[in-house]
Amino acid sequence: MIRCFCLTLQRKNKEQMKETEAYKKLIDHGVRPSFQRIAILNYLLTHFTHPTVEDVYSALASEIPTLSRTTVYNTLRLLADHHVAQMLTIDDHHLCYDGNVEPHVHFICKQCGKVIDLFSEQAPQLPQPVVVDGNIIEDKQLFYRGVCKDCLAKNADGKACN
Ligand SMILES: [Zn+2]
Ligand SMILES: [Zn+2]
Repeated sequence: MIRCFCLTLQRKNKEQMKETEAYKKLIDHGVRPSFQRIAILNYLLTHFTHPTVEDVYSALASEIPTLSRTTVYNTLRLLADHHVAQMLTIDDHHLCYDGNVEPHVHFICKQCGKVIDLFSEQAPQLPQPVVVDGNIIEDKQLFYRGVCKDCLAKNADGKACN
């Protein structure tokens, strides 16, 4: 899917590139829309899997030979700084990104490590920035941790076979 996007984008002229959602979002948030930034943001807007830097790099590297991990890392940080994407800091080893900047609850599977959206749960709705007990809150994230339904099904299958 991303293959088609990048090749199509390269073939498109500048006017058509300006029609993409990613381009418009970058402009709206005051980020200069370079080709690589558009491609990285487009990946986030079409893959709600909460990818890591490595995930985004592996997905785009073959299509954009000039892309480096550092560029992906810096671009994702930049997108988060400008609120075009949100950075999820689940733990020191798991930093991932979300193209959906609306507050929503995430669920992390401790078995397979995947991060999914739980839109049925109420996300913290504090305005930003907000002061609570004299502390300025700049970011709020709500994570649920457990075992996902896919892993539960696999575990049940495993047990049934034994
Ligand atoms: Zn799982
Ligand atoms: Zn999410």
